[in-house]
Amino acid sequence: MKAKKIAIIGAGIGGMAVAIRLAAQGHSVEVYDKNSSPGGKLSQFWEDGFRFDAGPSLFTMPHLVNELLALAEMPPLAYERLEVLCQYFYEDGTQLTAWADVEKFAAEAAAKTNTAAEKIKQHLAKSAFIYQHTHRIFLESSLHRWRTYAQFSTLKAALRLPFLGMGQSLHQKNVTQFPHSPHLQQLFDRFATYNGSNPYQTPATLLVIPHLEHHLGAYFPEGGMYSIVEKLYEAAQKLQVKFVFDTEVSEILVQKNNVQGIRIGTEKIAYDAVVSNSDVYFTYHKLLPHAAKPQRILSQERSSSAIIFYWGIDRSFPQLSLHNIFFTQNYRAEFEAIFTEKKLYDDPTVYVNISSKYAAADAPPSCENWFVMINTTAHNKQNWIEWVATARKAVIAKLSRMLGADIASCIVCERVMHPLLIQENTGSYAGALYGNSSNKMLAAFLRHPNFSQNLKNLYFCGGSVHPGGGIPLSLLSAKIVADNFS
Ligand code: FAD
Repeated sequence: MKAKKIAIIGAGIGGMAVAIRLAAQGHSVEVYDKNSSPGGKLSQFWEDGFRFDAGPSLFTMPHLVNELLALAEMPPLAYERLEVLCQYFYEDGTQLTAWADVEKFAAEAAAKTNTAAEKIKQHLAKSAFIYQHTHRIFLESSLHRWRTYAQFSTLKAALRLPFLGMGQSLHQKNVTQFPHSPHLQQLFDRFATYNGSNPYQTPATLLVIPHLEHHLGAYFPEGGMYSIVEKLYEAAQKLQVKFVFDTEVSEILVQKNNVQGIRIGTEKIAYDAVVSNSDVYFTYHKLLPHAAKPQRILSQERSSSAIIFYWGIDRSFPQLSLHNIFFTQNYRAEFEAIFTEKKLYDDPTVYVNISSKYAAADAPPSCENWFVMINTTAHNKQNWIEWVATARKAVIAKLSRMLGADIASCIVCERVMHPLLIQENTGSYAGALYGNSSNKMLAAFLRHPNFSQNLKNLYFCGGSVHPGGGIPLSLLSAKIVADNFS
């Protein structure tokens, strides 16, 4: 194999993963990022003695990170497997602990919701069944290469499609399984938000997600989420990947449908191939101004975005865990507001992540670092200053009511994130957390492939392209890209 000189635009998790894989194959790799540090959405900051992971907080499928560290002959990432996946709080006072252990979770959920434990275990078994029959095709292969469809496993999965839930929504599936328990319907509906979708629209195939948490496990990396970035950065440097920060790529240079390199301001740099880890929408609209645009893909509905409050809290809440959910009374109305009416919902479901529960150094003694998030519609010229002010009131009122404490008086420092800031900081179009939504039945086929169908030597990785958003899928996109070079 002839070693190539490859440019990667973006040092997000997908960009770093593809850099490691291509460098390990012997290519010469240079990564450009407009920010001053790696990680993209996975970033961190400190405020008044509190450390915050700014973006992702849920870590699944750690083996995908370890595969990359192994390529640089580094030891696996240090992490702890969570015993408690999430604490769920409902407005009627019900509180439910989602234990990772299936038996324990089924017993707890059965007792709290008046449902047979067997029904809960059956649902999780269905989740495992869907994963077993979909992950190779939908997550680990290119859906845009004929060879995927020539595989026996694809044929087998195709025959099973009617049983994989493509024909009904996730919510319908959950109602069918738990007709008498709105609490369990809501708990399982929530998994649609793991890729920024609407459970009332997204196909029931997304029931695959609980399998990741309950069977494959959810983890907390030692030192917090950002340690994933630090380790991958170290691995990439060990493999001689060159990083160029504070440098925005202006254009991908193309001649006769062949990628020639990149332009930074007025400087042109030649490369044999370019991998874009920048959001696919901006890759076409900013970096490839003269190329034909795949309009159907670029005009798909975006995933949800978020308003996040990062609060230093001056006391500790023993009833809370690492991941906590405070549900709205009316989930359907909340998703209608996010995806259809595109307005701020007045009783939003609130997610509170507290990494200091696992990493004491993340907060001063007897304090906690709260990452408080509500899902919102993606950016579309809203006045985010007004939306944030309204959301802050609603969130504080809800948490105070449901925790029986005056939360406003516990906040000692604060930072805020909203969709426009997410777009500005990470180049994510409309501030979407996960690229396109998965609300349509065929959404998986409407994500951009990991290579360009028109321009030779141009590749795509990260959460805005196949197989989708989130850390594990972004890492898998890098693997699919690298397979093109081996
Ligand atoms: P990105 O993180 O999107 O980074 C792209 C990089 O490219 C950026 O650093 C940007 O500066 C750079 N760039 C773009 N254009 C240019 C250019 N022209 N020149 C130079 N550099 C450029 N996922 C989970 O798995 N679990 C979670 O709990 C979770 N929660 C989330 C919460 C929030 C608030 C957010 C924002 C996301 C969350 N996600 C979660 C999703 C996850 O963070 C993303 O799917 C994933 O990090 C995307 O990585 P990426 O490879 O696409 O790169």
